[in-house]
Amino acid sequence: PMADKPLRVAMMGLGGYANIVAKGMQECKLAKITGVISGTPSKVDTWKQKYGIPDGNVYNYDTVNQLKNNPDIDLVYVTTPNSLHHKHVLQIAAAGKHVICEKPVADNAKQAREMIAACEKAGVRFYIGYRLHFEPHTREVIRMREAGEFGKIMHVNNFMGFKIGDPTQWRLKKELAGGGAMMDVGVYALNGARYSTGEEPVWVTAQESKTDPVKFKDVDETITFQLGFPSGIIANCGCTYNFNHGERLHLMGDKGWAEMVPAFGYGPIRGNTHLGPINQPDVNHQAYQMDGIADCILNNKPDPNVTGHEGLKDMIVVDAVYESIRKGGAKIF
Ligand code: NDP
Repeated sequence: PMADKPLRVAMMGLGGYANIVAKGMQECKLAKITGVISGTPSKVDTWKQKYGIPDGNVYNYDTVNQLKNNPDIDLVYVTTPNSLHHKHVLQIAAAGKHVICEKPVADNAKQAREMIAACEKAGVRFYIGYRLHFEPHTREVIRMREAGEFGKIMHVNNFMGFKIGDPTQWRLKKELAGGGAMMDVGVYALNGARYSTGEEPVWVTAQESKTDPVKFKDVDETITFQLGFPSGIIANCGCTYNFNHGERLHLMGDKGWAEMVPAFGYGPIRGNTHLGPINQPDVNHQAYQMDGIADCILNNKPDPNVTGHEGLKDMIVVDAVYESIRKGGAKIF
């Protein structure tokens, strides 16, 4: 049953992922959808009917500042194209609402820093939609690593990608996507390297391969990148927009290992370790994430590892990946 005072969420940008989040949220106990922000009236009509949203909780991109007068909305979930996240999060912070922003947090670390500063100044909480931090198989691998069950971590090998369709979509336009495969799915391999090791990289190298310069004229198609960590671990990671079947996380220690395939999609997530299959429940990622974040806000609990600062840490590496490709050689922090 729904809590007496759930977290009231408005979705901003009613596209593919907003629909998946809204569907998942029907399982939530602590969060519910009470509003929408959209540029497409026909979608708004559908959402109003489906989720019982009153007229007074409907906004468009020009009326976001009016959210400040609406006590019926606590948080806005931004699921617009990547390059609009910066502008939208600044608008929401100015309206005094908490915000969840989808990955990648922004186009670069500079924007991410500005978003964090704006939310801090406004006194609102700022999260990134890193749903895997709530996912039980992923949590179990992190728990095992923290408990020392893999011994000393020696190496990580992560990949995430898919073959992208429609050549006219925003994901292939730099001005809306900020970049290509690295921005969209490379961040899973990167975030996975950070949460599976529990360390922050001290150097980055990267390489790009473009086999279809027409389709990928604006953005990166396939990138491989290496992260060097303080303890000596190297993570060898990759991402692509031009083939399927590559998705995995592989963590190798001197006493054991974990391999998750698939590791980053909506699930079911599957994995094995040196001790056997990872036996954890299959959950709805979006419902778990939203109840997890709602619990922090409503019950004033410490934020999980999905804050704007986490997004910034990834963006610093993304910047370094692109810089390394541009210049050749390593980016050393
Ligand atoms: P879609 O294109 O399906 O939806 C984006 C929506 O943003 C549109 O439907 C539109 O909604 C709104 N929008 C506002 N301005 C523009 C514009 N100029 N061009 C296009 N759309 C615009 O994208 P996705 O839902 O797939 O992705 C949205 C975000 O969510 C991305 O940042 C992506 O990285 C992230 N994402 C995260 C996932 C995860 O697992 N965490 C999975 C999938 C995506 P409206 O018509 O209502 O204005």
